[in-house]
Amino acid sequence: MLTKEQSTALAKEILQRSQIAVTEEELKNFGAWDWYLDDYEHIGVAGIEYCNTPRYCGRELIMTPGQIVPQHVHPPIDETNPGKEEMWRCRYGVMYLHVPGEPTPNPLGHVPETRKEHFTVWHEIVLLPGEQYTLKPNTLHWFQAGPEGCVVTEFSSFAINERDLYTDPEIQAHYNKS
Ligand code: ZN
Repeated sequence: MLTKEQSTALAKEILQRSQIAVTEEELKNFGAWDWYLDDYEHIGVAGIEYCNTPRYCGRELIMTPGQIVPQHVHPPIDETNPGKEEMWRCRYGVMYLHVPGEPTPNPLGHVPETRKEHFTVWHEIVLLPGEQYTLKPNTLHWFQAGPEGCVVTEFSSFAINERDLYTDPEIQAHYNKS
């Protein structure tokens, strides 16, 4: 069992292993999201946001072994904005991405038994370093790091995190409050 501090330290180590250069300042502002579930070791992601303007967003996502970004969707914002489009490029380790489609038999991704019902898309895409995938807006997705963790660069349109919709009602309840 790792504490959030231990997981964060491990994430910084994984980022170092990836040899992606970041500044001291960025390391100081290292984000750690746990979606209020208090289970950061299993459901969480660390990140450095390089930019987020009304036109584009760039982030480094750093995940410890087996860590999960829970299932969600980026819905349309208004008539001019169909929702956030995301592209991930794996830089280090392996990322198991899950999207709608034919469920993958024997997927490599695995989720905690207690939350399994909140993960409904099981078409698995395995991204190795140098591989990338673009997800259209308004498409359910979740992802998980492989056994060495992973570093993934996320390129996207403007991120309005509070408009994301999560399948897990416990997570969504927090969003509705904020
Ligand atoms: Zn997303």
